Amino acid sequence: MSDKVRIYQLTKELGIDTKQMLALLDSIGVEYKSHSSTLDNETAETVRQLLHDESDKRAARASRTAVAEPAIQRPKGPLRPPVVTVMGHVDHGKTSLLDFIRKAKVAEGEAGGITQHIGAYQAQTPSGLITFLDTPGHEAFTTIRQRGATVTDIAVIVVAADDSIMPQTREAIAHAKAAKVPIIVAINKIDLPQANIDRVKRDLVKVELAPEDYGGDTIAVPISAKTGQGIDQLLEMISLVAELEDLRAPQTGLASGTIIESVLDKRAGVLATVLVQRGTLKVGDSLVSGEVWGRVRAMSDFSGVRLQEAGPSTPVQVLGFSEQPHAGDRVEAVVSDQVAKALVSERIAARQEQVVQRDKRAVTLAELFGQSKRQRLNLVLRADTQGSLEAIKGVLAREAATSDEVEVNLLFDAVGAPTEADLLLASTAEAIVMSFGVTAPGSVKKSAERYGIEMREYRIIYDLIDDVKRLIRGQVEPVFAEQLLGRAEVRLVIKVPRSGNIAGSYVTDGLIRRGAKARVLRGGKEVYKGSIAQLRRFKDDVREVATGFECGINLQNYDHVQEGDVIECYDLVEVKA
Ligand code: GDP
Repeated sequence: MSDKVRIYQLTKELGIDTKQMLALLDSIGVEYKSHSSTLDNETAETVRQLLHDESDKRAARASRTAVAEPAIQRPKGPLRPPVVTVMGHVDHGKTSLLDFIRKAKVAEGEAGGITQHIGAYQAQTPSGLITFLDTPGHEAFTTIRQRGATVTDIAVIVVAADDSIMPQTREAIAHAKAAKVPIIVAINKIDLPQANIDRVKRDLVKVELAPEDYGGDTIAVPISAKTGQGIDQLLEMISLVAELEDLRAPQTGLASGTIIESVLDKRAGVLATVLVQRGTLKVGDSLVSGEVWGRVRAMSDFSGVRLQEAGPSTPVQVLGFSEQPHAGDRVEAVVSDQVAKALVSERIAARQEQVVQRDKRAVTLAELFGQSKRQRLNLVLRADTQGSLEAIKGVLAREAATSDEVEVNLLFDAVGAPTEADLLLASTAEAIVMSFGVTAPGSVKKSAERYGIEMREYRIIYDLIDDVKRLIRGQVEPVFAEQLLGRAEVRLVIKVPRSGNIAGSYVTDGLIRRGAKARVLRGGKEVYKGSIAQLRRFKDDVREVATGFECGINLQNYDHVQEGDVIECYDLVEVKA
């Protein structure tokens, strides 16, 4: 391989157009004369990295929007251990099961047999290694998914044999199904005299997880996390399912993976648990995760053993991040610290851009059905009583049956107000959260807004049903989105007795139009929303004032405008469904 590459060669190699390539080079400060200039190897590699990252992001976006699509192309490479998450109702024995396997199946590390809790570990079984995510609870599971990463290959749902299926069991099942992860049921606590395995199996049929001896194909293994009975069979079943899933990943090349956990250690600094998912992570590698970068100074496995490198499905604790990365964020090894830093600044800039763009568009039902006419309506349903829940479900089923085109998919339903977990589920599957007769807590509503999840609350059952009908028929009420006209900066407040204060302003971009909608931003926060009542240039009333001009703005019913405020002027336009 020659040391240098010409820009056009690299452009061709990466399959982008010249304009994009030159823009990219500009953005990382590379100087060139023309597209036939040469780049040194390191710069070329930097560009490849940046693009690789971009295409990964695109793939992640595409996979988020393609819920109903068949699974994305399977990765190639050697087989890798499965990554297993244990979920289930509280007190059904998740922690006990994980602890039992850890004690029984994990070789003691050099660190005097002290196995650290780093959020994941690997167990050696006769049929191979299994990686367990040691962060029980589907919240962790879904938070990680929500950030665009699929970490879990197999979900083990623990059901206590003396208690059977409980609300959080159903929730866990819904999460695993939404993520399209194979489920193995561990029927736990069979050592208890009141254990009733058959009852659990019968209940499994009701949640569409009929075990093999009940005519279905769900693997259900009776176990005791206390005595260890059945745990070998469970591990065997996990390996069996893993084999069927044919889990592969490339073992060479720069590593990428997911942050499972990160803690700030007083002495050592940031300790991050990374699950390597492809490639090999090596000491000395430069890393980027979200808006944080670092270099692997040292690495150890869950038992404290120092490692020089780690391949796919290996959880490792990494020392060397500059700040704490977020659990659930992707992490990537890149060729140099320089690339890592460039990526981080790019991401920070992109986020700031996003903040500016946010609120500019309405994310609504129209989008769900809009241009791309979706075939599947995913719902999370909440209601005040079991009775109303059943009633709504009945109508839903009837309505769904009237349409050949749209499949109504009820991901989860329960009595009570919508929760954060519902949102996570909804975001995983791009579902709408509908609730009848219950109100979500403010914090949940805020999260929904932040994640852009549609939540609808109904007081009247027919309203809910009407909406569902409309959705099924693809008829959505008109939806309006904001279209920014321009911004002006308030430079001087002129007090005018009787007619209110006038904001002496300078139009910084676009234009300000009389009668248009407007908001006032103070320190980035919205303090007023209304419209432009009056617009003046000198003594004249005018209809519009463009960029670069000064004007006097009078806001409808608002008298508290201050110097330094930003007035945003916008139109509401109908989004075509
Ligand atoms: P988690 O909330 O699902 O993590 O449940 P834990 O693992 O904390 O278990 C809850 C309780 O059930 C604890 O008191 C455990 O000792 C007990 N437990 C868990 N598994 C078993 C089991 O197989 N048999 C019996 N008898 N008790 C169990």
